[in-house]
Amino acid sequence: MEKKFQGIPVSPGIAWGRVLIYDTGKLEVPKYRIKSPKEEIERLKEAVHATKEELSSLYKKTLENIGKTHASILEVHLMLLDDQTIFEEVNTRISSEHINSEAILFELSKKYAEELKNADNPINQERTADLIDVIDRIIRNLTQQKRPDLDSIKNPIILLSQDLPPSEASKLKNDKILALALEKGSATSHAAILAKSLKIPTVVGIVNLFDSYLHPIKGAAVDAIEGNIYVNPTSETISKLRYKKNKLKKTFSFYEKRLLSLPSSTVDKVNISVFANIEFPNEVDDNIKHLAAGIGLYRTEYLFLDKVDLPSEDEQYEEYIKVAKKIHPLPVTLRTIDIGGDKLSSYSKIFNEQNPQLGCRAVRFCLSNINFFKTQLRAILRASIVGNVKIMFPMISSVDELRQVKKILEEAKSELDHRNIPYNKNIQVGIMIEVPSAVIIADDLAKECDFFSIGTNDLIQYSLAVDRNNYHIAHLYEPAHPAILRMLKNIIESAEKANIQCSVCGEMASDPLFTEFFIGIGLRNFSMSAVSIPQIRTLITAINYMEAKEFAEKVLRLPTATEAKETLKERLKKYKSVISA
Ligand code: PEP
Ligand code: MG
Repeated sequence: MEKKFQGIPVSPGIAWGRVLIYDTGKLEVPKYRIKSPKEEIERLKEAVHATKEELSSLYKKTLENIGKTHASILEVHLMLLDDQTIFEEVNTRISSEHINSEAILFELSKKYAEELKNADNPINQERTADLIDVIDRIIRNLTQQKRPDLDSIKNPIILLSQDLPPSEASKLKNDKILALALEKGSATSHAAILAKSLKIPTVVGIVNLFDSYLHPIKGAAVDAIEGNIYVNPTSETISKLRYKKNKLKKTFSFYEKRLLSLPSSTVDKVNISVFANIEFPNEVDDNIKHLAAGIGLYRTEYLFLDKVDLPSEDEQYEEYIKVAKKIHPLPVTLRTIDIGGDKLSSYSKIFNEQNPQLGCRAVRFCLSNINFFKTQLRAILRASIVGNVKIMFPMISSVDELRQVKKILEEAKSELDHRNIPYNKNIQVGIMIEVPSAVIIADDLAKECDFFSIGTNDLIQYSLAVDRNNYHIAHLYEPAHPAILRMLKNIIESAEKANIQCSVCGEMASDPLFTEFFIGIGLRNFSMSAVSIPQIRTLITAINYMEAKEFAEKVLRLPTATEAKETLKERLKKYKSVISA
């Protein structure tokens, strides 16, 4: 039976297909009445077969990589799968009670767990523990709740999960992932940002996705335009979505073609540059070069997130220079590693922090790991030889901190000088403005750097005291809050006064709701995921700066987010024909 769920669309697109449930930790075991015991026994046989294949391949890998002792445990598990006694009991109950197999296996496993608690003979204990383990694997196959290795997915799937940690999210590169549906997450979570970069249709914040399904999930369809998920979709739903998908494809190519003939400026000829945000070098293709004014934000931490060993200076240099050369002569802004917070990796896990978002993140992490930091700085400097590289520091919260990172940058430069390695001596140095203290002292910071880039994702989180990944308080994460809108204006004014460039690279930059407001408060540079550029650039060409200025002044006077949002929504209607081709 089809079941529809609603979430927040964060990366546009439509897809359908078989489902893979990313292990959510706790095993969810549905219990329901089955119609045909024969079919159910067949389903169980298939799951046992899949479990055997899984264990055999694990056995081979373990034997090769770890050794015989560890592999022999898996050999025992394989033997248990051949023992028919358990299955005879399950099959009998399926036929007499008409209950699904995973529910019976789950009861059995609970019974074994009880026995395990009371067993005094170590041999019996071991065997019972092994049995529980094997049953768990079969249940996971029956309910498709395997913890998949995202790297090794071979067939196209729709990935359903409660959440996706950033270290796993970096594996979304696999082109077999057709769409992503997360019960938790938010538009500014790293999984969402990454999915957008990789053009994977994604819906997050799907309430009760895992609480309420009662039947095995055979397939799913994701409409990441409306934010709808259909579990076990009917053929009627699929055909409606197929029609919509074709229309969407035409709309995208319409925008892209139209851009070829459009200048990147407003109706009254104010030049506006739209840059791209990237996470991986291979995102830089001809399409980005044609759509964007350059790379406004290269989040270098994704190079580190799925690695156990720190990439060497040479390895990092290879990655950075690849991007610099590919995008040349357009510029690229490399942001130094923003690790910590929710972006944990094997490096930052050494800290056990109560409040990671307020902890040893970004430049704080770098300043307490100077060698690590300098290695990255030298790699970036070496890549700057191409001539188009800028460097940017995240989460700067004081002038002292800015001076400290600049001092380390100078030291990295002299180390290269000593090694006679060339780099761009005049490399531009910028900072992210994403902490409220930086907003208040923006005038002072602007005197000591070459550019600002406003990270609205964090600026909202830190100003409104709302964890950007906590879906319980997602309703409080409000970009249209008057405090945010007024801060944005102040930052842009500080940059103007100091005559330095300012851009916005957080997710707000790609939300059409704010485009006219941004232009009205004087923003001239946007940076966003490539997928959003055609729409925003098209919208810019329909905006009149003088009118935008007047409109922004009106929005800035509003005392509540509700009124600001209403006013922005009402205004956007004016451009409906431009942005919905
Ligand atoms: C931001 O905070 O807005 C930003 C662009 O950085 P990140 O999302 O990587 O924290
Ligand atoms: Mg940030």
